[in-house]
Amino acid sequence: MIRARVWGENFHDRLNHICQRNYPSGMHNCIADALRSDEIEVSVSIFEDPEHGLTREQLDATDVLIWWSHSRNGEVSDEVVDRVCKRVLDGMGFIALHSAHGSKPFTRLMGTSGGLMWREANEKERVWVVDPSHPIAEGVGRFFELEEEEMYGEHFDIPQPDELVFISWFEGGEVFRSGCTFRRSQGKIFYFRPGHEMHPTYHDKNVQRVISNAVKWAKPVQTDRPNYWANPEPLEPLKKPIRVYE
Ligand code: ZN
Repeated sequence: MIRARVWGENFHDRLNHICQRNYPSGMHNCIADALRSDEIEVSVSIFEDPEHGLTREQLDATDVLIWWSHSRNGEVSDEVVDRVCKRVLDGMGFIALHSAHGSKPFTRLMGTSGGLMWREANEKERVWVVDPSHPIAEGVGRFFELEEEEMYGEHFDIPQPDELVFISWFEGGEVFRSGCTFRRSQGKIFYFRPGHEMHPTYHDKNVQRVISNAVKWAKPVQTDRPNYWANPEPLEPLKKPIRVYE
């Protein structure tokens, strides 16, 4: 079983009546419920939990962390962010959803601001698959549409993605790299754009499918961890002695 953990800010979910109507038990629980399957077991953590629900023990028991945040990005503890980023470098998958483009773990792992253009005008979004053989795109067809979403537009301040899986088009004319993969040390990272809190996006079957595909893609690969900084003995006899400089 893949051990996924959905992290929710749980701020709009409690305080905004439109978000509450869309997600009566919180966005994180909607995402978690859609993910549960024979292959994926799911835990949930929220901002208000002790250490944001991301203690060392909780992270050690997490294969893939899914992160939604917005208003309280800056209030997340740096100590917890250090722990999350270290776990990603050690192999934990990390999926940043929507406004998590500005979250501390994502911007630190990217090394850029994560900045972008945005507009709230209930626009249609058409999410185009630009890498049809990618496992994250499996089962969603050539494209899928969300009738109303927040617009995100280029330029999106991220490093060049390792793989670009989706590009979104918006009614107002903008386009956006809405599905991007990155690798950092042993960890795999996926950024997925849809999911503004004022729209019922996480009830959409295609969106749910993409997140589920991404969890399977981002799970750690079982491998012997490289022993970095090691000074290995040669595998074959050397003709010249090993020299040690003090
Ligand atoms: Zn938003």
